[in-house]
Formats: sequence, structure tokens, C-alpha cells
Amino acid sequence: MSETFDVVVIGGGPAGLSAALNLVRARKRVLLLDGNRPRNAATLFSHGFLTRDGVSPLELRKIGREEVAGYANADVQFARVTRVTAHDDGFRVEAEGIRGSADRDVVTRRVLVATGLTETLPAIGNMRAYYGTALHSCFECDGYEKVGEELAIIGESDDLYERALLATVWSDDVIVFTNGVGIVSDSDERMLSDRNIPVERREVAEFVGDRGQLSGLKLVDGTIVPRTAGFVRPLWHATHSYLDALQPRTDELGLLLVDQGGRTNVPGLYAAGDITPPGPEQLIVAAGAGARVSAAIVRDSI
Ligand SMILES: Cc1cc2nc3c(=O)[nH]c(=O)nc-3n(C[C@H](O)[C@H](O)[C@H](O)COP(=O)(O)OP(=O)(O)OC[C@H]3O[C@@H](n4cnc5c(N)ncnc54)[C@H](O)[C@@H]3O)c2cc1C
Repeated sequence: MSETFDVVVIGGGPAGLSAALNLVRARKRVLLLDGNRPRNAATLFSHGFLTRDGVSPLELRKIGREEVAGYANADVQFARVTRVTAHDDGFRVEAEGIRGSADRDVVTRRVLVATGLTETLPAIGNMRAYYGTALHSCFECDGYEKVGEELAIIGESDDLYERALLATVWSDDVIVFTNGVGIVSDSDERMLSDRNIPVERREVAEFVGDRGQLSGLKLVDGTIVPRTAGFVRPLWHATHSYLDALQPRTDELGLLLVDQGGRTNVPGLYAAGDITPPGPEQLIVAAGAGARVSAAIVRDSI
């Protein structure tokens, strides 16, 4: 524990990078630790980020890291934080180095958590082969590229009705696939039927197509339903066991509860981006939250 920082930012996605950039510009000594597992790594193009529409997710982060690292008071490192504990001078942050980088064990006045979400897709055979090309999860991010296509709405949750209606913003040809698990009530199914949206309740065995080009969904009885694209409903998880010693307040999904300035109920502990409610979960929203929370940190430090 040789080093001390004003702020340790955990997570180098748009929320953490944007916060770190604004903090170093406010002359804070900042350590940014990033586990380098971008949530959107499955996709080739990121959409909707003003001035960077269509950029590769990795390129966006690379530019952000370089901008932060260009400041003398910034220390940017790939490392996975394993523990944050209370310390007389604020917090102790311990991290394991990755990609050959050193472990870190530092003290900081404040901590900003921006480690985002992880997601689990429905367990359907070869879904991963199409995820990020023909199959996506975020309508706002990738709907435009699927305009007019034969869309599959796939999920095992109880919000498929709302997702199917949302899909009609981009296509009139929508089929809901519950994979035998997802919940669509009879009355919702009737309302979907009125809008020519069938609900397929049989299990999906696999996706059919060639080199990322989807042509259909094969059901367990062998029926192939033609579809060229789809939106999958993953389950989202907020993973922050490294904060267990601090016991920050969370909602029922495990997201960190914060005020307008990103302050958790633990003094000196802040959070921004997808790990806080309510979204929407988009790059520019996360980056904006990072900037907003950094402004609160700067004011709280006076
Ligand atoms: C497939 C896919 C495609 C998407 N496409 C788009 C799009 O086109 N446009 C758009 O606006 N949004 C898109 N999104 C949403 C967007 O990626 C997220 O809203 C955004 O990345 C959230 O930013 P964040 O900074 O909160 O978290 P993230 O970007 O998830 O970054 C969190 C970072 O924290 C790191 N981390 C996690 N745990 C630790 C730890 N213990 N120690 C250190 N670091 C840690 C992770 O490795 C990661 O690098 C997409 C999402 C997915 C899943």
C-alpha cells in the first residue's frame, strides 16, 4: 500500500473513462483499473454515440483510454479489482494484474464504481455464433440496421410482449419465441395477434444460417421458422462482490442505488453507468453519467 490517490475509478467502459477524464482535468490524482472485458465486445459496431456512430467498441475504449492516460495525474491500468475495504484515509483497493500487468494495493479518498453489467443469454445451442451480427439485445443500438427484416424476439422473461411491440418500430414482421419458458399471458397474446405478431411457444433447438447470416430458427420438432435477424432478452447481472465489506445499498436486481450525484449510501463510494438504475443502457448515457458523477466528486472534495 505505497500509493495514495484522490479517486480510484473501477471499470474502464464509457462511464469510468468519462469520469476519469473529467476528474484528471479537475486536477485529481486518479487511478483507473479496468478488467478489460467490455460488455459490448460481442458486437463489431457501436451505434448512437454522437460523433462515433458505427465505431468498433474496442476502438471507442482505446481512444478513451489514450485521452485519460495523456494526463500526468492519471494512472491507467488493466487490473481486476478483488476487494475494496474501509481505511483510515478512505478506502483500500486491491487488484489483480491482468495481461502481464502488476497487482495493485492502494489507498484512496474516494472510489467510483463503473463496472457495468454481465449478461446470460438463453441456453440455445449455437446462439453465440449469431450474437452481435444477426442477433442483438438492444433495440436502440441495433434496430436501425434491421429495418424491415424478419425479426425474432427471443427470451425467457416476462417482458416479451413489451419487447415485441418495441420491435415494430423497426419491422412489421415480428414473431415472439418463448423457448418454452418466456411468459406471454393469453390476453397479451391476443393483443399481439391483433397486430399480426405470432407467439411461438415451442422450444428452439438451434439457429440456422451460414457464416453469421441467419436464415431461420429450428424448433425442437424440426420445424424451421424463417427469420433473418432477432433480438434476444439476456438476463443481466450486476457483479460487485469486491464491495462486500462495504455493503452498499442495492435494488432487487443488485444494481447500486445512488443519488443524482452518483453517491451510494457509503460515504466516499460513488457509482455510474450500467451498474446503476435506471438506464437506458447505452454508451452515451453511461459516459454522461460518468461526467455527472465526477462533477459531484469534485464538489464533495472541496
Ligand atoms: C452486445 C452489446 C452491444 C451493444 N451495443 C451498443 C451500441 O451499439 N450502442 C450503445 O449505445 N450501447 C450499446 N450497448 C450497451 C453498452 O455497451 C453499455 O450501455 C455500456 O458499455 C455501459 O458502460 P459502462 O461503462 O457502465 O460499463 P461497461 O462498458 O460494461 O464497462 C465496465 C468495465 O468494467 C470492467 N470491470 C468489471 N468488473 C471489474 C473489476 N472487478 N475490476 C476492474 N474492472 C472491472 C469490465 O471489464 C468493463 O471493461 C451494447 C451492449 C451489448 C451487450
